[in-house]
Amino acid sequence: AAKRLGGRRHAFFRKELADQARRHLALDGELRSALVNRQFRLHYQPKVSLIDYSLEGFEALLRWDVPGQGMVSPGEFIPVAEDTGFIVPLGDWVLDEACRQQRAWLDQGMRPVPVAVNISPRHLRHRTAEDFRRIVDRHGLPPELIELEITEGAVMQDIDHAMSVLAALKAMGIRVAVDDFGTGHSSLSYLKKLPITTLKIDRSFINGVPQEREDASIVSTIIAMADMLGLDVVAEGVEKTEQANFLRHHNCTQVQGWLTGRPVPADAALDLLSKRLKSLAVPEPA
Ligand code: C2E
Ligand code: MG
Ligand code: MG
Ligand code: MG
Repeated sequence: AAKRLGGRRHAFFRKELADQARRHLALDGELRSALVNRQFRLHYQPKVSLIDYSLEGFEALLRWDVPGQGMVSPGEFIPVAEDTGFIVPLGDWVLDEACRQQRAWLDQGMRPVPVAVNISPRHLRHRTAEDFRRIVDRHGLPPELIELEITEGAVMQDIDHAMSVLAALKAMGIRVAVDDFGTGHSSLSYLKKLPITTLKIDRSFINGVPQEREDASIVSTIIAMADMLGLDVVAEGVEKTEQANFLRHHNCTQVQGWLTGRPVPADAALDLLSKRLKSLAVPEPA
């Protein structure tokens, strides 16, 4: 009976896998036409100084504008694009579009602030530093105005390739941040050697601050470690004033979160950049 059950379970999983493969294939086709039909958008979330709440940069976040359905979040389709390989042309589009937008803002006389784009593990594996640089150069941008965000997982998947790409990017002046820091399993010995500029503390740790003792220790330790390694540090997912106060108290100088600004379309990001909104002032309670 056990064997028969096992056989049936096997058939069940095989069907599940086949269903998933079919779903992925269908979604992959939709994503490819979405790119041709210009249905992808970038929204921009401000990175803000904790010292004076001034705007210090943006992260570009991908959205799929499905006609009649509204914006679809990247969580719904990035994993599939990563799985099918479509992430490579899609990721190239994201970088190109962020550079195009950055160029347009500079041409409008806006103050230069870096724009960050997310590079998925598979995209990183299939591209060289030269590939990324060619896209940045196409728009005549100073490389230090573009930042690439990669996860620990992307580095650990192919350490040799990642190390050489990151080293070349650094030599070119393109900034690199490790995203969702603390959730992966990169070892400290690699972190020490990684040619990166910034650590972004994952939202899951910021969530528990300041109440949860463990989260508070992890966050203050990451900030201190970044400082010792000479890296910038950004706290992600800051929603509450108490979190910002804790971070400031522990010498974290930059935050990104709903407290200081949600991701917005390019025209609203321009409002933040231009004189129309001088500072993203958030009051600090007495
Ligand atoms: P991420 O790179 O860690 O981006 C931060 C995510 O946290 C964004 O979600 C942002 O909207 C959200 N967020 C920011 N502040 C807060 C906050 O205060 N509270 C909460 N609850 N959430 C906040 P989003 O835009 O849905 O993106 C999710 C993930 O999808 C990103 O995480 C990134 O890993 C991936 N992604 C987004 N755009 C791209 C892209 O162009 N390429 C690739 N490869 N991945 C992307
Ligand atoms: Mg990111
Ligand atoms: Mg993140
Ligand atoms: Mg995240």
